[in-house]
Amino acid sequence: VLIAGNWKMYKGPEETVSFCAALAARLADVEGVDVAVCPPFTSLAEAVRLLDGTNVAVYAQNAHWEREGAFTGEVSPTMVAEVGADGAVIGHSERRQHFCETDETVAKRIRCVLDSDLRVIACLGETEEEREQELTEAVLSRQADAVIGAVDQDAAERLTIAYEPVWAIGTGKNATPKQAQDAHAFLRGLLVDRYDRATAGAVRLVYGGSVKPENAAELLSQDDVDGALVGGASLELESFAAICETAAGIRS
Ligand code: PEP
Repeated sequence: VLIAGNWKMYKGPEETVSFCAALAARLADVEGVDVAVCPPFTSLAEAVRLLDGTNVAVYAQNAHWEREGAFTGEVSPTMVAEVGADGAVIGHSERRQHFCETDETVAKRIRCVLDSDLRVIACLGETEEEREQELTEAVLSRQADAVIGAVDQDAAERLTIAYEPVWAIGTGKNATPKQAQDAHAFLRGLLVDRYDRATAGAVRLVYGGSVKPENAAELLSQDDVDGALVGGASLELESFAAICETAAGIRS
């Protein structure tokens, strides 16, 4: 199980130091769950420094598809690796919505991240309108094809897919456990078509969208839900730690 906290555009270096120190201490005895934080770029180095030697990994929130070049404002996977981070989140719906991220750029970014020996959390999910029009599976299929088309069998163990229905992100309105399980089972089927069974089973499918301590247990106990990508509730130590402890309790 993986519980990853997406900090979005919150927590500069100073706050990162105090938060990570407290998080490491709080989770020192929590076993059976992989935990990660995803700070903004300028806080990555501090997070890596504070969490070195702990059970908490560090992911960037994005990375470019080239290792270097004339791409003002972008950060490459090589640079993310150089600060000691473990991976990068790619294709978050906020990137797709506000920064013109497409399936094509998502696939390119994923390839470069994996080529840099990093892990990737690739995000996908339907909008409310798409769900209402019964387009959920068509959208997931299109987005997942782009993601898994970019990941060879031998790199798939470093892939996590985050199913994040757009209507559930930051809205307080989470998917029901059944909606999450149905989407994850559908995605698992696509993985089985692409990889051998063992590999398809090993790709982690995490759910994201208004996960809180109150709903974590029922979402995380679904068969194909291998963890959570947590936004808002990852910004407070107590709520994030509570979700991590819930995950550890379910899987142990
Ligand atoms: C996210 O940022 O990926 C997310 C799921 O946010 P929230 O938990 O706030 O809905």
